[in-house]
Amino acid sequence: MIEKIEHIGIAVKDLDKANKIYEQLLGTSPYKMETVDSEEVNTSFFKTGESKVELLQATKNESAIAKFIAKKGEGIHHIAFAVKDIHKEIKRLKETGYTIINEKPKKGADNKLVCFVHPKNTKGVLIELCQEIP
Ligand code: ZN
Repeated sequence: MIEKIEHIGIAVKDLDKANKIYEQLLGTSPYKMETVDSEEVNTSFFKTGESKVELLQATKNESAIAKFIAKKGEGIHHIAFAVKDIHKEIKRLKETGYTIINEKPKKGADNKLVCFVHPKNTKGVLIELCQEIP
């Protein structure tokens, strides 16, 4: 079951500058900043009610975020949905014909298990499923 939009991920070139912009916009400071080595990103998270905004900056030139920005520029990179049971959702979506980029969920930012659904199946939007690690 999909529970809610957990966060929206935004690819940025300069995390410090982006933090200031989003701090002013949202009237709150990031509650967490975290480097995720598996994804080669520095992240910061803002609470916006039930959902969050995640800013992502590449730590390497070859990382997925760097490639995304080179191709499309800064902007919305993915939408993340919170799920109760990520394994169950992966199975359900696979059976329905979606391409799951990593079928084995990996540890993402903000204490979550995550997997991604290929944007070719979702009208060009990269979808993240995430489950809180208890
Ligand atoms: Zn995310």
